[in-house]
Amino acid sequence: MPETVIITGASRGIGRAAALLFGKNGYNVIVNYSSSADKAEEVCSEINASGGCAYPFKADVSDRAAVDGMTAFAAEKFGGADILVNNAGIAEQIMFCDITEEKWDRLFAVDVKGVYNCTQSALPHMVHNKYGRIINVSSMWGITGASCEVHYSAAKAAVIGFTKALAKELGPSGITVNAVAPGVIATEMNSRLDPETMDALREETPLERIGTPEDVAETIFFLASPRGAFITGETISVNGGFVI
Ligand code: NAD
Repeated sequence: MPETVIITGASRGIGRAAALLFGKNGYNVIVNYSSSADKAEEVCSEINASGGCAYPFKADVSDRAAVDGMTAFAAEKFGGADILVNNAGIAEQIMFCDITEEKWDRLFAVDVKGVYNCTQSALPHMVHNKYGRIINVSSMWGITGASCEVHYSAAKAAVIGFTKALAKELGPSGITVNAVAPGVIATEMNSRLDPETMDALREETPLERIGTPEDVAETIFFLASPRGAFITGETISVNGGFVI
């Protein structure tokens, strides 16, 4: 029986690359999305054509009822999720003094509460099986801090704290909890940056390139696979040496 993975925010970017990688390797995949139904359907078609089995599921990760609906859907189709990839996230570049309460709350609702919602919802199945893998997508800015991204940096740092604490709590239940901290990755999240800024970021990266969604997906996949079985509570940087 193949394992089942729920990947949040999987219609594009890092989540999409992870969904395709799990699918290609024969996993059952729930492709979560919040608005792009067409793109999520495309990801599922590609997975179903490559030997995996995938279904799209619309849920805003900040909405607990919607997330519980997604968990129930995974149970109905595949008996429950063995692996959860908390990838969905939003970012925003803005001076600290201009971050309104509404902006602060929304970013935390998606990037932090979304991780809480999805993890708590998916957990009973993993605890019951005494087996599970949870991989949270943080950011290098959660480690080092980014100017003009205070709420994002604080949220991604919270995800690292969450990962460490939950790893300790869930170790005895056979569940690993890890994070990946990507550097600068070529996705829509960075599409607002002008070419000069992207060039400067590339020059600052010792490996002299911008990362790809596949670079991050490979690390997520490793942490979910049997090869990552004895790793828990870690945050693995995937940043080409940007932060060492
Ligand atoms: P992206 O913007 O392409 O992908 C983010 C995905 O999350 C999208 O599919 C979006 O629809 C989804 N999403 C947003 N809000 C949602 C919600 N409320 N419910 C469900 N889904 C929602 O960007 P990406 O780079 O692929 O981002 C993936 C993750 O990687 C994010 O957590 C991001 O913070 C993190 N990250 C990205 C970079 C980078 O340079 N691109 C660097 C570090 C960390």
